[in-house]
Amino acid sequence: HHGIRQVLRELGITAHNAAWSTGLTWGGADNGNTRTVTSTADGRTIGTVALATADDYEQVVLKAQEAFKTWRLVPAPKRGEIVRQIGNKLREFKEPLGKLVSYEMGKILQEGLGEVQEMIDICDFAVGLSRQLHGYTMHSERPGHRMYEQYHPLGVVGIISAFNFPVAVWSWNAMLAAVCGDTCIWKPSEKTPLTAVAVQHILRDVLRENELPEGIFNLLIGDAEIGTKMAADGRVPLVSATGSTRMGKKVGEVVGARLGRALLELGGNNAIILTENADLGIAIPGIVFGAVGTAGQRCTTTRRLIIHDSIYEDVKARLLKIYPNLPIGHPLQEGTLVGPLIDKDAVENFQKALEAVQAEGGKLLIGGEVLSGAGYETGTYVKPALVEARNEYHTVQEETFAPILYLIKYSGGVENAIDAQNGVRQGLSSSIFTVNMREAEAFLSHAGSDCGIANVNIGTSGAEIGGAFGGEKETGGGRESGSDAWRVYMRRQTNTINYSTQLPLAQGIKFDV
Ligand code: NAD
Repeated sequence: HHGIRQVLRELGITAHNAAWSTGLTWGGADNGNTRTVTSTADGRTIGTVALATADDYEQVVLKAQEAFKTWRLVPAPKRGEIVRQIGNKLREFKEPLGKLVSYEMGKILQEGLGEVQEMIDICDFAVGLSRQLHGYTMHSERPGHRMYEQYHPLGVVGIISAFNFPVAVWSWNAMLAAVCGDTCIWKPSEKTPLTAVAVQHILRDVLRENELPEGIFNLLIGDAEIGTKMAADGRVPLVSATGSTRMGKKVGEVVGARLGRALLELGGNNAIILTENADLGIAIPGIVFGAVGTAGQRCTTTRRLIIHDSIYEDVKARLLKIYPNLPIGHPLQEGTLVGPLIDKDAVENFQKALEAVQAEGGKLLIGGEVLSGAGYETGTYVKPALVEARNEYHTVQEETFAPILYLIKYSGGVENAIDAQNGVRQGLSSSIFTVNMREAEAFLSHAGSDCGIANVNIGTSGAEIGGAFGGEKETGGGRESGSDAWRVYMRRQTNTINYSTQLPLAQGIKFDV
């Protein structure tokens, strides 16, 4: 069936998979605490994983600490060379890994392959970065003194990832952390552990071929409890957590209580503004991809459409022509554009949100049904919904992780649309479609979008790895991936060196002893 057996074999997935791995060693397979992983695409069992225990956690942290002592002394460009080899291995395994991502998580094959491509791209980025981990040199106010800053490896980095990008978001963190000289402990989502197991096999081969210490890349399979342990653990100086705002608030609080570093990538409530000057020829496909791609399960999914009243009916009519014809089906089936939701809980949240928004006065225009019958036996396939709503509705203010697009009308100038766009607690991605330069610049100005990502004439989802990725407000404030996001994975040190025969003090202070 879709060649999944072969894919699992190629990726080293066995029926029963271990709870943890320290790069070279796998362990904890026989602790009796297991979970069966089924595909949301067709309900079949893919494999079983053991869940890590508190003992397993201890072992892994110790290995990661031990490996750090070696890894931090490997020159950064040499660390980059290892990442280059990982990128090459990912190229080799792109097809099977992409398929497994698609099958386990439910995103369509093109997106599964795209996710692996993103991993390859961040490897390439990190290889270059390994020769550019630079700080500034400053001029000292004291004669015969030199002042500069360095970036040193930080230590063990904990990575907690979400189900919807089961491997790419880990790689954004892990590949940067690796060239920065850190060792990583990955706790993937309990909903998608097998893709993580597959990636760990790929890493193991690279570590082995290079005779590197195990413990540079570690994996712990488990649920929130393991994540909480990392958050509380002073031996883990940075915890990078991707997931819901509810999770981020907990992790942020626990890490904050020990004054550790938390990099938080949380929920979004992303809007596209369509002004009266929007080019609908490019806007409509951008909206549909953003709203129904990955079945509405991207952190950057377009959830709100803020439309000028002069074009509102036209936009609505165009969307109502497309929505009935969206190909919904098995994610590995060619031609499918919308796959299933991750599980039945997600379906329930989808339906509850639709009920709630209608109770508030929203009007369901199309969609909302759960599909049944041949090919839809899992009960996780839904028809994407379009709802006329107001921005201030409670339901619209929340992120529902499902394909619901709220159509919101505005009138007057673009500033009114920007107010609505900013009028939610989340601040991840935003975009405007307009060919009017004044509107576009207002949207990008200091008084414009308050999000971490603000686009003009492209949608809210599908970011490139070269830019820093993340958002403000309840999205958590973290930045990952490109630009100078690497700095959070290192510790900064300011160095002043006196090569004179005097000891002048800063600020001209005299202190004669
Ligand atoms: P989730 O919050 O349920 O789980 C995410 C991860 O956090 C899982 O590994 C989970 O085990 C762990 N976790 C949960 N509670 C925890 C706790 N108290 N302590 C430590 N770890 C804990 O999220 P999900 O359903 O897997 O993913 C969907 C959410 O992720 C959405 O809100 C989406 O917007 C967000 N997301 C954000 C980004 C981003 O970059 N901003 C990217 C992808 C997903």
